[in-house]
Amino acid sequence: MSKGASLGEDVARAIDISTVETPCFVTDLGALERNLQTLASVQQRTGCTILLALKGFAQWSTFGLVKKYLAGATSSSVAEARLAREELGGQVHAYAPAYSDGEMAELVTLADHIVLNSPNQWRQHRKVIQARGISAGMRVNHEHQEVEVALYDPAGACSRLGTTRANLTAADLDGIEGLHFHTLCQTNSDALERAVAAFEQKFGDFIPKMKWVNFGGGHHITRPDYDIERLVRVINEFRARWNNIPVYLEPGEAVALGTGVLVSTVMDTFENGMGIAILDTSATAHMPDVLEMPYRPVIVGAGDPGSKPHTYRLGGMTCLAGDVIGDYSFDRPLQIGDKLVFLDMAHYTMVKTTTFNGVRLPSIATHDPVTKQITVHKRFGYRDYRDRLS
Ligand SMILES: *Cc1c(COP(=O)(O)O)cnc(C)c1O
Repeated sequence: MSKGASLGEDVARAIDISTVETPCFVTDLGALERNLQTLASVQQRTGCTILLALKGFAQWSTFGLVKKYLAGATSSSVAEARLAREELGGQVHAYAPAYSDGEMAELVTLADHIVLNSPNQWRQHRKVIQARGISAGMRVNHEHQEVEVALYDPAGACSRLGTTRANLTAADLDGIEGLHFHTLCQTNSDALERAVAAFEQKFGDFIPKMKWVNFGGGHHITRPDYDIERLVRVINEFRARWNNIPVYLEPGEAVALGTGVLVSTVMDTFENGMGIAILDTSATAHMPDVLEMPYRPVIVGAGDPGSKPHTYRLGGMTCLAGDVIGDYSFDRPLQIGDKLVFLDMAHYTMVKTTTFNGVRLPSIATHDPVTKQITVHKRFGYRDYRDRLS
């Protein structure tokens, strides 16, 4: 998912890049805490509960901070649920398009809420979920589209995510305690307001029987132009309409927005029709959304091609011809050994890296805004490559 214009420039300025080994993700704990405080203020003003969606950000060395402000996490797999239980604590929520019996047997030992994708899944797993006293929810699809990019639109035609109104009866919801929808991505609160209206229009008749409603993720709450007042109003009015029903929000991206950088080093430069620079990072292995989404990350001190005197195509360490981050221009020629700082790289990066080509994964570090100290929590090596193969 894309990163905002120059979000996180303050973080890059605060970090002494010269001391950072590369490649390395560095998350600023001050920026993370600011985001968490913003989310906590929404909880205070609405009585809603905000969970961290681990899919977007799972840097568990920061969870000591996260747990001061958020009630828990939501997971999209048994592994994420286990990470939530073991490293974060608090409430553990879970949703996946389908669970096998084996996965469910493990998940019920970890989760407080489990959201099923379909009436079939509820029938299959009902007994084992209820035997544990776990609160079960149904993901519904109100078919109201707010996301333009199909890759990120769960409400589009023929979506596999959530049950549509035409496929849901009151009997299907027997024993179900909550309704869950997730149809937003990087959206402001006006989109949430429309999504909530569509949800109520399609599924409002079921809400009085529910104990909670989950508005999913995709709320860009910590973005500077996000309309928090409207978010607070939408949640408060919803709760007022529905007998003060508990509301959950589960943002991933908003927790880590603008909090981290990826630092890399220029390994080589040469000419081939234009300036080429090889970096010790990779679009495909270290920031796959650059190719998948696609989007253009912001690099400190760099401009669009041609806007500064020296333009380079920045490429990665793999043999994939298209392992290119993009074309950027600089005030000075790039030198071997120069460090480049990619902004806003905390979310949907560490969770998506691969060991394709055996390229080493970036180290994972935090920056303390008070002491200025950078702590490397994890370095990766050969074993990380070998252990995912056999
Ligand atoms: C991806 C996802 C989230 C988090 O989305 P963000 O865009 O990172 O806020 C929350 N809930 C569900 C069900 C998701 O699939």
